[in-house]
Amino acid sequence: MTKITEITVGIVSLPLKTPFTTARHTVTAAQAVQVKVTLANGLIGVGTGTPNEVVTGDTLASSRAVLEDVIIPSLIGCEFEDWSSNLAILKNAIQDNQPAKAAVEFALYDLRCQTYQTSLVKLLGGRQAAVTTDMTLGIKPLDQMVAAAQEFVKQGFTTLKIKVGSNGIAADLHLIATISKAVGPQIKLRLDANQGWSRMEAAQALRELANANLPIEFVEQPLVANDIAGLKELTQLHILPIMADESAFSYQDVIRLCSEHAVDYVNIKLMKTGGLSEAEKINDICAASGISCMIGCMIEPTNSIQAAIAFAASHENVKFADLDSVYMTKEVPEGLILNGSELRIK
Ligand code: MG
Repeated sequence: MTKITEITVGIVSLPLKTPFTTARHTVTAAQAVQVKVTLANGLIGVGTGTPNEVVTGDTLASSRAVLEDVIIPSLIGCEFEDWSSNLAILKNAIQDNQPAKAAVEFALYDLRCQTYQTSLVKLLGGRQAAVTTDMTLGIKPLDQMVAAAQEFVKQGFTTLKIKVGSNGIAADLHLIATISKAVGPQIKLRLDANQGWSRMEAAQALRELANANLPIEFVEQPLVANDIAGLKELTQLHILPIMADESAFSYQDVIRLCSEHAVDYVNIKLMKTGGLSEAEKINDICAASGISCMIGCMIEPTNSIQAAIAFAASHENVKFADLDSVYMTKEVPEGLILNGSELRIK
């Protein structure tokens, strides 16, 4: 048996090429708490977690405090081989704080990969395949969003995700149509309102989008997170597929969404689930309900995006990937190979 002897916390901060704005906030750097877990045999596992004050309800400082005050003391001295017990200790150490938990879980998975001398993709049972991501257009003046869309298409992206929901639906519909016209109908569009539409606005937007015959794959989180009845109404209009993001954190949330068939798709983010083990449960529930998943991300640096790629590569029900944050940093990300819209772990 091998004891966990030390866990340290640091901060990673990689400035973005340009600030990224959604309906809820603006981000200027890919930031994370970085956790290093040391075993008695000398192995060191590394993991990062990216808090997001408007989605997960935490910050770098709060995540660091929770790690140092609560999570780390609960794991020091535990036997590394007691895998499920350690995951339970991590999960139950404190309510919420999923990014902090994700950072520790990734570090534990990293140690498992080193112990068994394998990759995370193989450990999760997947094949080493490239994952194709969309590229997200943050909220900016219209001409800048159009220019960014054209530039991303030039770089090889075939699917764009457009952030809407902050300027009213007339402006949103104009924006979507203008971007689609600028990049052409072969470029697929995903819309993310980040809870920014009312039920009436969302229903009207869906109808007008369908009438405009735009190449839209799905509409993500049109309504406030708690309005499951509203999501169900929109989904049952069967105009465009509806995806849950902020409505789907825990597997309990997802059981409800799936049992009521309130959405067509679920966006799994490892920063919402607190890591891979909970994400696997959520994906299983969705798969059993005939609901496909997307793997998404916050504005995260490389480490947790590697975990997300491995998750997508090892779960067939994960049909879509939105792992674009590593393209947004000024610095070229280490540990990944980016080839147009395809990314793989180095
Ligand atoms: Mg979203």
